[in-house]
Amino acid sequence: MKDPLFRTDRVVAPERCPACASPAIVTTAKHPDSESYWRCTACGEVWNVSRRQPERQEVRGWR
Ligand SMILES: [Zn+2]
Repeated sequence: MKDPLFRTDRVVAPERCPACASPAIVTTAKHPDSESYWRCTACGEVWNVSRRQPERQEVRGWR
C-alpha cells in the first residue's frame, strides 16, 4: 500500500520562471509533479522541477 503523503520530495508548482522571474509559465502535465516540465512563455526557458530544487547548497555534484 502506497502512501502518497509519505513522499519526501514534495513538489510545489513554481510560480515564476527561474530564468527571468516571469509568472507566465505553463506545464504540459495535468498533474504537475517532480517529473513535470515547465516552460516560460516569456523567455522560452524550459525546466524540470526535480532538477530545480530550491537552493539545496548542501547537495552538490548533481551536474
Ligand atoms: Zn522566463
